[in-house]
Amino acid sequence: MVDEQLVARGITDTRVIRAMRTIPRHLFVPEKYQGHAYRDRPLPIGCEQTISQPYMVAVMTQSLALNPGDHVLEIGTGSGYQSAVLSQLADRVVSVERHSVLTNFARKNLDATGVTNVELITGDGSRGFPDAGPYDAIIVTAGAPNVPRALKAQLAEGGRLVCPTGSRDQQALQLIERHGEKLHTKNAVPCVFVPLIGVQGWEN
Ligand code: SAM
Repeated sequence: MVDEQLVARGITDTRVIRAMRTIPRHLFVPEKYQGHAYRDRPLPIGCEQTISQPYMVAVMTQSLALNPGDHVLEIGTGSGYQSAVLSQLADRVVSVERHSVLTNFARKNLDATGVTNVELITGDGSRGFPDAGPYDAIIVTAGAPNVPRALKAQLAEGGRLVCPTGSRDQQALQLIERHGEKLHTKNAVPCVFVPLIGVQGWEN
């Protein structure tokens, strides 16, 4: 998976490559899909949600340029796979999921992988999680109409935020960096994510 789908397609950050070699993706999918775990595709995880395609996990993680001491917020825990990858590259990860069934699924998967620096919260992540902020990096793994204002407000000085934005069916990754009061925005790769449902996302 790492050599053919990530390195061959331009993922160059050696720490991201090492993290994705370390975290076993098959431990984050339901048993009946374990035989497909190392294909470059999203897979169903219940609640009509998916674990993201490995290439997209790598692109988004690489775009955050994480440092070992970073404090990271993820919106859309799903299976916990992206959280586990982040956990290898940062000091502490807080991840918010709206479906409690998936929070429990992710907790089980993270425990099975031996990851101990991820805190899971059930709630509407379009509001962020101000109690533990500000964050050096924020990653949204569901598609939003616009980058939620609450998330921009919870970004620390020098912080990076990546979020798919666009229509419900098709988005592009938006990468934001905070420098003082200024937010610098770049549009990157086209992508397709399930919708971010919430007060600063889409209606259910
Ligand atoms: N990062 C996940 C992984 O590694 O398995 C995949 C995420 S899946 C593509 C998107 C997730 O976002 C779903 O689990 C969905 O329930 C969640 N979600 C959607 N809207 C949300 C919201 N407002 N707050 C928190 N989670 C949300």
